[in-house]
Amino acid sequence: MNSAATHVSEREQELRRLRAELEETRKELDEILQELEDKPEFGLGVGSPRLYEWEMNLARRDMLLERIAMLEEAIRRLEEGQYGICEVCGKPIEPERLELFPETTLCATCARERSRRRH
Ligand SMILES: [Zn+2]
Repeated sequence: MNSAATHVSEREQELRRLRAELEETRKELDEILQELEDKPEFGLGVGSPRLYEWEMNLARRDMLLERIAMLEEAIRRLEEGQYGICEVCGKPIEPERLELFPETTLCATCARERSRRRH
């Protein structure tokens, strides 16, 4: 009888977890952005470790931005009650899969289909 209540609390827990992860990721992004402000002189140091580090941070920033977008999307879907539903076939996504990839919008079958088509 209270299976609905259990469901809500699991969803609530997942939301909290995703929001915490989002906050962590944003903090990390802030740090990277600060480091990026300290831009090395390009003319001087092509191939220098300092420039290499700067470029690594740039790549890392893009990765974090992407991660933030995915987490925001996952949170939005969860709030709308669509979280854990495959956007392609509409079936529930495997819980083990959601644990590994909280931002996924595809079930294992559809994800496999998609990556097969890509290769
Ligand atoms: Zn699917």
